[in-house]
Amino acid sequence: MLTGCKIAFLGGDARQIEVIQHCSDLDASIILYGYENLKNEFSGAIKKSITPDCFQDMDAIILPVTGMREDGKIDSCFTNKELKLTEEHFKKANKNVVVFTGIANEKLTGFCTENQRCLIELMNLDEVAILNSIPTAEGAILMAIQNTDFTLHGSNAVVLGLGRVGITLARTLQGVGANVFLGARKPEDLARAREMSLQGFHLDELPLIAEKADIIFNTVPATILDASVLVKIQPHALIIDLASKPGGTDFRYADKRGIKAMLAPGLPGIVAPKTAGKIIANSIARLLVEHKSKLGGEI
Ligand code: NAP
Repeated sequence: MLTGCKIAFLGGDARQIEVIQHCSDLDASIILYGYENLKNEFSGAIKKSITPDCFQDMDAIILPVTGMREDGKIDSCFTNKELKLTEEHFKKANKNVVVFTGIANEKLTGFCTENQRCLIELMNLDEVAILNSIPTAEGAILMAIQNTDFTLHGSNAVVLGLGRVGITLARTLQGVGANVFLGARKPEDLARAREMSLQGFHLDELPLIAEKADIIFNTVPATILDASVLVKIQPHALIIDLASKPGGTDFRYADKRGIKAMLAPGLPGIVAPKTAGKIIANSIARLLVEHKSKLGGEI
């Protein structure tokens, strides 16, 4: 339970509703910043406006999955007002506060490090990223279906990267009957591909494999689908780039060649906000309880 725990929520999207609900069910005291237009009323939740010392007695600050922008702004689909953080907020925050974010840029990391505040990047945690790969893979498949005139079954589907998203996506594509080619650079990943009965290949061979691709899903956050690869791709092939912005595709060159290439960020929040919110909520609650017990119950 989170009885006695004071949690500040700042902005976010539909996923945050699940997190707020879960924390409210666990009896936390909840303060909402940037939620003026939210209709739901959560028991024990209060809506407030942000002030320089508003985190003074907070045990946790929960930022959206997208974190904080370089200029300190926080995105919220629940307000029309500007929601902005400065270093002052972190300086004046409770010294034991835990700051949760999906991803963190240098600015946010700097604010927390310089002021010795604990920062947890949820999307870096395997327990979150592995589960999050499920709605990501489902979203990628939805996009593939919507943007092709052939079935995934029987198609040559290339997955680049065998990390948390790559492995789930490859297995899901295999399940619908695609011929899955899996590109990785580590021998152990190629061994895993073989164990999964997938056609593993070293990324050095990508130009060769690309020639027979009907669809390519990229999860590698580096420019891997460059002009030397794109020049080999068949005109009907579709590229769905799942890697974090700016993706791993030379979109300019793809466009020049008339290849349909799409960057597809934030799929869990689009296709399954409820599930994605629950995944985040469960981890935040677990980590807060752990943090509370480390502090000897003083939270
Ligand atoms: P991950 O577990 O770290 O996997 C990344 C994969 O990329 C690994 O196989 C890694 O191989 C490979 N890789 C990284 N840098 C490389 C390079 N320079 N050259 C070749 N291979 C490289 O990450 P993940 O959780 O699967 O996420 C993958 C990407 O998708 C991330 O950018 C993440 O932010 C994004 N993502 C997007 C969505 C969405 O909705 N679009 C959802 C979740 C995640 P090594 O082990 O050899 O480094």
